[in-house]
Formats: sequence, C-alpha cells, structure tokens
Amino acid sequence: MTDITVTNWAGNITYTAKELLRPHSLTALRALVADSARVRVLGSGHSFNEIAEPGAEGVLLSLAGLPAEVDVDSAARTVRVGGGVRYAELARAVHGHGLALPNMASLPHISVAGSVATGTHGSGVGNGPLSSSVREVELVTADGESVTVARGDERFGGVVTSLGALGVVTALTLDLEPAYEVEQHVFTELPLDGLDQTTFETVTAAAYSVSLFTDWRAPGFRQVWLKRRTDQPLSDFPHAAPAAEKMHPVPGMPAVNCTEQFGVPGPWHERLPHFRAEFTPSSGAELQSEYLMPRGHALDALRAMDAIREVVAPVLQTCEIRTVAADGQWLSPSYGRDTVAAHFTWVEDTAAVEPVVRRLEEALAPFAARPHWGKVFTTPADRLRALYPRLDDFRALVNALDPAGKFSNAFVRGVLGG
Ligand SMILES: Cc1cc2nc3c(=O)[nH]c(=O)nc-3n(C[C@H](O)[C@H](O)[C@H](O)COP(=O)(O)OP(=O)(O)OC[C@H]3O[C@@H](n4cnc5c(N)ncnc54)[C@H](O)[C@@H]3O)c2cc1C
Repeated sequence: MTDITVTNWAGNITYTAKELLRPHSLTALRALVADSARVRVLGSGHSFNEIAEPGAEGVLLSLAGLPAEVDVDSAARTVRVGGGVRYAELARAVHGHGLALPNMASLPHISVAGSVATGTHGSGVGNGPLSSSVREVELVTADGESVTVARGDERFGGVVTSLGALGVVTALTLDLEPAYEVEQHVFTELPLDGLDQTTFETVTAAAYSVSLFTDWRAPGFRQVWLKRRTDQPLSDFPHAAPAAEKMHPVPGMPAVNCTEQFGVPGPWHERLPHFRAEFTPSSGAELQSEYLMPRGHALDALRAMDAIREVVAPVLQTCEIRTVAADGQWLSPSYGRDTVAAHFTWVEDTAAVEPVVRRLEEALAPFAARPHWGKVFTTPADRLRALYPRLDDFRALVNALDPAGKFSNAFVRGVLGG
C-alpha cells in the first residue's frame, strides 16, 4: 500500500496492494479497470479472510466515492442499488416506500454487493441466501466495458455469488415484497439430548427465521431466537422457556446492541438482523467461521460438534445454528441443497483458533460441509472443488469474462485450481 494501511473489519487481515483507489464516477472506474493489471474490490471489509486481497501489484478498489444509488421502483417492486451501498441504507430506503427484502444477515452494516458475492445468508427454512433476491447484475469487466446479466441469462448462476472474480459489480437490481412486521422472541435452554432430526425440523420451522445459540460448554442451546412475521400464523414454542431478560448471542455482552426482543413488533429491517445498525455488531473482537451442510444431516452434525466441544469451547464466544433454503448460484454454499449452517464466533486469536478450525472441519467433513466464503477456513482446495458440482461452469465464465485473470487472486485460484 502506498500511503495508507487498510485492514478488514476484524483487523486480522491487512491488505497488500499497490494502491487504494476510490473513483468518483462510473466513467473513471471503467478507465481505471481497463488500465490496471490486477484489481480487487473492497466492500465493507467484513470478511475474515484474504478473499478481497489484490496482492502487491494490484489495485484495491473502493466504491465509497461513487454515488450511493438506491432507486426503488414501487410499481415493479424492485430496487436498483449501487455497488458500494450497505444493507442499512438500502433497508431504510426500501421501507420508506412500503417495501421490504425477504431476509437479512445478522447485521445491516455489510455491503450488498460484498454480501451476495460470498453467499451471505440469514435464517429460515423457506429463505434462500441474500443472493436469491438479485434479479440483475451490472458489472464492469476486465476490458472496462459494462455488462448486464439478468435472471434467465445462462450466465446468471455464476454472476451473483462470484467471489469478486468476474469484475466490479457497479449495481444490483433486487426483488422486493410489501413491507411486513416481525416480532422477536428469545427462549433459553434447549437441551441437545431431547432433540432428534424431526424435532430439529420442527424447532427451526417454528418461525420465519430461527437461530439456535450455544457456547458448547454444555450439550445444548443457551438461546433460541424466533423471528415471527406478524402476517403469518403464530405457533406455540413448547421446546424452551421464554427469556427473562433481553439477551445478546455472546454470553455476557450487553443486549443494548441487539434488535428489540420480547415480541415487540417492528419493521422487518429492525428485527431480522440480530444487531442494530447504530451499534458495533457481534462482539467486535472476534474471528468467525461457518459451515453449511445438507439439512438432513443437522442432528448428526450437531452430535459431531458436541463430541469435540471440549476442543471448541475454549476458543468460542458463540455458535449459531441457522437454516438456509437451497438456491441456484453455482458457488453458493447452499447451492442445490436445503441447508443447516453452523456458525462460530471465535476469540480474536488466529494461532489459537486455527487448529480448532482444522479439527472442526475434520469432524464436519462427512457431512459435505461447505465453508462460508467470507470467513476463516482451512478446507483444502481439492475438497472444496469436490463440493461444488458447477465449478467447471464457473471457471468457464471467469475465463470468458476475464481471460487474463485481472480479478483473480490467491484465494480465487485456490478455489478454481491452477
Ligand atoms: C459481525 C459480522 C457478522 C456477520 N454475520 C453474517 C451473517 O449473519 N450471515 C452471513 O452469511 N455472513 C455474515 N458475516 C460475513 C459477511 O456477510 C461477509 O463476509 C460479507 O462478504 C461481507 O460483505 P462485505 O461487503 O464486507 O465484503 P468484503 O469482505 O468487503 O468483500 C467480500 C468479497 O466481495 C467482493 N466484493 C465486494 N464488493 C464488490 C463489488 N462491488 N464488486 C465486485 N466484488 C465485490 C470482494 O472483492 C471480496 O471478494 C458477518 C460478518 C461480520 C463481521
């Protein structure tokens, strides 16, 4: 980096780059891409690995200088959003038009383009990852040209969850639905002992979005968060006891950072994330990993995690179990399979966490666990490639749009091979 040091949100990655550039217009961005040998875009920097790393000869490109476009088309129920915009800004604008997104991640601080590039998701047995809302992608490709790829195009399965390997996403158009309200209810102490696959399915389908939290210090879940849409029928939740106080997913952290609980109804974008836009999300001092597996393996996978909880617990702040519906993005960790996702918020200590991550990956390998692209993982390249049946199609798309590998980096080469 010439005169500036850029780290990711967690501070565990310092990007190596020749320059950090922040173009102020699409024309300038296109010229810059055409004239550069290597480019990677930095979104809001919330990934925990080197996915955005351009390398010493590369340009790290920030879209923060471009107009933060959020253009809602109320009649069509769509929104066109600029490549640097974050979910918090998007959600407020969309809600102002009486419209909504179907789901959000645990925090609204992340950029839309960066999130869908890594397969970011929320929870809900009927909810695909956030990329499922995308209907059109506007890209600046290696030669500086603008290309639009819409749903229905044969390339579409590769262009949304693209790991940033196809070009600069300058805008995305997303589907919307009428605004809705959500109530958040937190329950405590759901034992693992009483859980079988059928009960797991019942628990995770008990509301629009369900999260189970454990610190793996005991065989069970300390918290269950239910996000219920008020326009859908409410069902009882006899599996655990209602929480007596407002809770944070990390034991001991102040719940003031968290979205409203105790069933107080509120707008979708102030309940679907766990963390409020105006506060630091999660613990703030942490690393994260996540593994996505076919949902039918959920109980076996939970038992495999329980079997190594004495290894996991000492470096763990919290573990969150969510569900994601199958989707069609070739590189999506939930591609083609209804999914259970096991997320880990670790302590902020790479040396201590990495051996545990390896151990966890061994334990989850029998369940075809796909790592979250934006989090810490050590899954070897050959295993990764075996997990993605459409990888060759993605590689062909990369070769077609970026034959010289302008948008490649070590992370992408590791995934694609070669
Ligand atoms: C506290 C916290 C909570 C989280 N919660 C969740 C969660 O609930 N669910 C979940 O699935 N994940 C979660 N994540 C992970 C997070 O969603 C992903 O790391 C996501 O990629 C973050 O988006 P970003 O813009 O910060 O991406 P970055 O890390 O900036 O970039 C990620 C990738 O996208 C590419 N990219 C970004 N913008 C563009 C663009 N305009 N054009 C082309 N490529 C681009 C980058 O080059 C890079 O390859 C969480 C992370 C944190 C820190």
